[in-house]
Amino acid sequence: MAMERSKALFERAKKFMPGGVNSPVRSFRAVGGTPFFVGKGESCYLCDVDGKRYVDFVCSWGPLILGHAHPEVIAAVKQAVEKGTTYGTPTELEVLLAEKICQAFPSVEMLRLVSSGTEATMSAIRVARGYTGRRKIVKFEGCYHGHADHLLVKAGSGATTFGVPNSAGVPEGTAQDTIVLPYNDVETFNETMDSIGDEVAAVIVEPIAGNMGVVLPKIEFLKALREQTKKRGSILIFDEIITGFRVAFGGAQSLYDIKPDMTCLGKIVGGGFPLAVYGGRKEIMESVAPLGPVYQAGTLSGNPIAVTAGLKTIEILERDNPYPQLEQKTRKLTEAIAESSKEFGVNIQINQIASMFTVFFNDEPVTDYSSAKRSDVNLYAHFFHALLENGVYFPPSQFEAAFLSTAHDEQALAITQEAIRLAMKSISTC
Ligand SMILES: *Cc1c(COP(=O)(O)O)cnc(C)c1O
Repeated sequence: MAMERSKALFERAKKFMPGGVNSPVRSFRAVGGTPFFVGKGESCYLCDVDGKRYVDFVCSWGPLILGHAHPEVIAAVKQAVEKGTTYGTPTELEVLLAEKICQAFPSVEMLRLVSSGTEATMSAIRVARGYTGRRKIVKFEGCYHGHADHLLVKAGSGATTFGVPNSAGVPEGTAQDTIVLPYNDVETFNETMDSIGDEVAAVIVEPIAGNMGVVLPKIEFLKALREQTKKRGSILIFDEIITGFRVAFGGAQSLYDIKPDMTCLGKIVGGGFPLAVYGGRKEIMESVAPLGPVYQAGTLSGNPIAVTAGLKTIEILERDNPYPQLEQKTRKLTEAIAESSKEFGVNIQINQIASMFTVFFNDEPVTDYSSAKRSDVNLYAHFFHALLENGVYFPPSQFEAAFLSTAHDEQALAITQEAIRLAMKSISTC
């Protein structure tokens, strides 16, 4: 029977973990069905415990730009782990990684390594509040910045998928200082900053949104964020946890040539291990303990295995510059998807930049949260399962980004294009 072992494991998992998973979207609730349990990952494939292989376009939700089990990363990790797994004291590796990141992101003059993206954004907000002495923060609808209380308001990702814009357990008082504005809406942003900009500690944004599906920024929008925050003395935080080392080596800020005051990184920067970064202008980062009054710490921060994997990944990206090729491969795939959809008369919108994209089942262009939400999630679920059936794993939610890695080769892409064609065909007859 198909999925036999996965189904049995899922039943056991549900007894001990909410929804049977350790992060909500993994449960397949948004698309229905049973998640497959993974036995191993290899290059651009995931192999499940029942022996089926899938071309993987989730890539662990972004980190795996080099694919699964990249031989150089694995070799470096094996060597590192022989020397012990955590020390709780400084290492040369941390210095090397910090230097590399500051070179790649010139706006980051000083940084801290932490263990998750949630920790990075939460800490960046605390630093911005400590540095400015202000309370309010501005975020944008559909942007996800981890699950800290004050950022879990109209957030994307799992929060969007499940239509729980405000999580239970977040006190009203905490959310009160968070102002949520529509993405890409220059006018509303300018009006808000003109009236209360002086109370705003930080404006936090995904400079390319990935957590309501991929939504590209209008350049005037990013420029308005930079100009207004500068004028009002607020800190501009770019959450580049997806886009850092993904859309370009130097992230979205290098593509659009806009320098934020602070930056958060995660996903790729950990090379498949739990590692994230917050950093920015030296003057701001000097308010972090032990230099300044803002406290932030972590037992496993700068973990030598995670740092080794991250450093090796970044070195490979710098050495090989795979970005033009990744873009080309991704463009070719999205063009094939568009062609199949036309062939079978299925209305879709594809938002793509570099090696990330989303196929929205939507008649109109998707430019913000409200247009993303008008997508047909039932059609997406149908599309998702048709692909899965044919050995292609897309994100199990309409509101997530798909990713390519350097490991996605001609053969895998040919399998994918054929599966896409079959999926579009079955949608046209359903
Ligand atoms: C994934 C993500 C986070 C949260 O990172 P975790 O490591 O899952 O805590 C924050 N911001 C963005 C933009 C993300 O994509």
